[in-house]
Amino acid sequence: MMQVFNSLTRRNEELKPLADDEIRMYTCGPTVYNFAHIGNFRAYTFEDVLRRTIAFNGYKVKQVMNLTDVDDKTIRGANAANVPLAEYTKTYKDAFFADLKALNVEPAEIYPAATDHVPEMIDLVAKLVEKGVAYKSEDGSVYFSVRKFPGYGKLAHIDFDHQQTGARCAADEYDKENVGDFALWKAWEPSDGPVGWDSPWGRGRPGWHIECSAMSMKYLGETFDLHTGGIDNLFPHHENEIAQAEAATGKEFVRTWMHCAHLKVNGEKMSKSAGNFFTLRDLIQKGWSGREIRYVLINAHYRQGLNFAFSALEDARKSLARIDRCVAAVEKLAGAAAPGAAPDWAAKALDAFTAAVNDDLNLPKAFAALFELVRESNAALAAPAGVDFAAVLAAFKRMDRVLGVVFFGRAEAEAVPADVQALLGERAAARAAKNWAESDRLRDAIAALGWAVKDSKDGQSVTRK
Ligand code: AMP
Ligand code: ZN
Repeated sequence: MMQVFNSLTRRNEELKPLADDEIRMYTCGPTVYNFAHIGNFRAYTFEDVLRRTIAFNGYKVKQVMNLTDVDDKTIRGANAANVPLAEYTKTYKDAFFADLKALNVEPAEIYPAATDHVPEMIDLVAKLVEKGVAYKSEDGSVYFSVRKFPGYGKLAHIDFDHQQTGARCAADEYDKENVGDFALWKAWEPSDGPVGWDSPWGRGRPGWHIECSAMSMKYLGETFDLHTGGIDNLFPHHENEIAQAEAATGKEFVRTWMHCAHLKVNGEKMSKSAGNFFTLRDLIQKGWSGREIRYVLINAHYRQGLNFAFSALEDARKSLARIDRCVAAVEKLAGAAAPGAAPDWAAKALDAFTAAVNDDLNLPKAFAALFELVRESNAALAAPAGVDFAAVLAAFKRMDRVLGVVFFGRAEAEAVPADVQALLGERAAARAAKNWAESDRLRDAIAALGWAVKDSKDGQSVTRK
């Protein structure tokens, strides 16, 4: 039985499908105006582990992740670069999918783009106007009247009754102190340039929040199982999604809400605006693999802040090398193993793993169970007679259904030994600091280990000499 913490009720609850054996899940996706940073990927890897755990429990998953390809930031970027919006966002959509692949994130079933769903958004706004919970302002924008939706604040657990809630807020993001009527449709402004759609209220574009209500209901129905995002999405974005959807349909919008805590740097949220971010590409340039980065991102409880540090990547490299050595040896013996029941210790480790992931995705405990399996396997490898290693290998594979780090990217890790990888990492850092003497010294050190380094615009690669 899978238990998760529901941000709406603030309780651990069983996650089970509302209908059939399928969990219908919506995930707030990226705003494609730039490369995503690894803070964003903390959210996407958390959601990946979640969907994998759902599948691990035998349910089907239908996941929808939107691509925000029209908003203040994308419009500003496209107009500054003097290219059409669609061309500008395509670069970052492509990069996003490549990054997900590098992190072994399983693809969602559907990736709807906001610009392909403007008619659905207009319909939803029209419904809200018709019901009297939204109104047109003087400039041709349409606002949601927060006072008309009694449940406003139920996700953020804030009682807005005593607050001044008459003011309007055109920006997509605002804080609890500035709560007010929020924009569903924004009237065209000169800074929008060529971007705009015709609507019953004149030319304009949708607000950010309406996008997710319209697209989630289109693909998942008016009531669905699960909605996720980073904790910064909880208010106002998710609160507004609930208001829009429930005011329009009169039905419960989403049963379970889950939010991951932030990836931080020196105690502060990693974000574009704070300038304290690394993109996935930055780290790969520095010699770290997608597999190592995934390991760091998922090896913490999703509801706890995670501080990013390079020492964590170094630890991940060592831990993965330990796993690789063990699994390679188990694989060698698995083919020759006499069939039989899984050894007790493998079954026990797998049970502990299952209990951990089903207890609100307790990944630190799940990794402890994985390392218990490694430890026991190593002991068995020292005295292998009578051990069914095929069953041991199956236990590793079962755990990796959730983790996605044991078998993924091993070929590369095996091909380039850890000491060469470590020197490559140091060399990438030296090159980033334009320390060419150190870079050359490290090239020689790598050569002494039998590997030749090649530099290209994508970074370093090595081949055996
Ligand atoms: P954005 O492109 O800013 O809308 O963010 C995309 C996703 O990444 C959302 O689910 C955010 O909540 C999440 N996110 C942004 N910054 C961080 C961070 N530092 N740590 C974890 N998740 C984040
Ligand atoms: Zn959203």
